[in-house]
Amino acid sequence: MCHFNHVEVFKRNGETRVKVGAGCQIKHLLKALNKQGLTIPSLGLITEQTIAGATATGTHGSGKHSLSHYIESLRVACFKGDENVAQVADVNDGVELQAARCSLGCLGVIAEITLPCIPQYFVQEKATFCQTIEEVLVLEKQAPLQQFFLMPHSWLFLAQERVVSNECRRHGLAGVYRVYWFLVIDLGMHLTLKLFASILKSKKLIHFFFRRVAPSLISPRWVVIDRSDHALVMEHELFRHLEIELFVTRPKVSEAASFVADILKFADDANHKLSISTHEKLQKTELLDSLESIRGKFTHHYPVCFRRILPDDTLISMASGGSEDWYAISFITYVEPRDDFYALATFLANSMFELFGARIHWGKWFPQTGEQVNQLYPEISEFRNVCHQFDPKGVFRNAFIREKLGLE
Ligand SMILES: Cc1cc2nc3c(=O)[nH]c(=O)nc-3n(C[C@H](O)[C@H](O)[C@H](O)COP(=O)(O)OP(=O)(O)OC[C@H]3O[C@@H](n4cnc5c(N)ncnc54)[C@H](O)[C@@H]3O)c2cc1C
Repeated sequence: MCHFNHVEVFKRNGETRVKVGAGCQIKHLLKALNKQGLTIPSLGLITEQTIAGATATGTHGSGKHSLSHYIESLRVACFKGDENVAQVADVNDGVELQAARCSLGCLGVIAEITLPCIPQYFVQEKATFCQTIEEVLVLEKQAPLQQFFLMPHSWLFLAQERVVSNECRRHGLAGVYRVYWFLVIDLGMHLTLKLFASILKSKKLIHFFFRRVAPSLISPRWVVIDRSDHALVMEHELFRHLEIELFVTRPKVSEAASFVADILKFADDANHKLSISTHEKLQKTELLDSLESIRGKFTHHYPVCFRRILPDDTLISMASGGSEDWYAISFITYVEPRDDFYALATFLANSMFELFGARIHWGKWFPQTGEQVNQLYPEISEFRNVCHQFDPKGVFRNAFIREKLGLE
């Protein structure tokens, strides 16, 4: 698909759009658009993905819809209309478009995607430490693009307050900030965590890092303005890791954050006493027995990132449906073998499904069952219908799709 990498900017009804080849990496798309003073409406943490891979899995950043939501049309190689002869179909509207925006490859091979372009913008960023999630959520009003982190072992919240700036130039030593961020966070923090967690496997050093070192790495006084594609991304792809990301709606995010902190403390320390609220929740959902699989077995060693995603107009992206904003809560590990992390992540996936109706990112580690998926996505049967029209014989399905989406 890397040969499908064209970028064609054009106007329709006075608005600027871009037709982009499915295999084009987002970083190349951004570069081409920036030359014309343009960008795309939403960005994730990295820009290495192809536009088709990112949108097919509902990839998102913070404070906007996922990238999938913005797709205006797609060109797909599929079996629509003739189950034996592949066709090229243009998908422009209706339920087909909603399905194709985030399709996990089920409709066919996407060849081209059309997205709206927006003028390039600058983002102001500042870091703020908070004691509670309620304080962080209040900041969102003044910083709608914000993402925030629950720092394990200090259990403080760090908000990266982000807002679209009125200024259209870099400010606050943005170049120095980027170099600092790259050396200290992208390289320094990750290498240190890898050393402490993955090589030395030292619980004490991980605690020391998050309680003593991490807070001193971030200066709350440093206010920076930088171009969106610099400000919103990081070099997260540098070190191999595994991630699971759970999505809950806004009314549930505070409770989910307390639950997560309690469970991570329990996984870290076999003697940790769960709060009454967590205990009651697990009792109600009959999950108390499965706690033993994680008790004192895993020291979480990465900031837990929270990002807000506005509801998507798709059928099965993680933020699809409803009118509430969604919060993606991410758990990352560097430790191998992964068995203890898998146990923790499976426990979180099952308990948060029962308690908060949590969905899981399609493009990350995915332990939920087809039955759970069925309950979580009210429009999944619409999605299946569209899949059957585009791919009657199931040529594009693999075992994962058959199991999780119930597509036989
Ligand atoms: C380091 C790192 C950071 C990340 N950060 C974020 C983040 O900030 N936010 C976020 O939401 N996600 C994030 N992700 C997840 C990532 O965006 C998804 O896994 C995405 O799918 C990867 O894109 P890709 O081009 O590598 O896709 P691939 O792995 O190549 O494809 C993923 C799936 O997309 C479908 N697909 C791909 N191309 C086509 C096509 N041409 N036609 C039909 N179907 C197709 C297929 O189902 C395929 O299995 C991150 C992943 C990594 C590794």
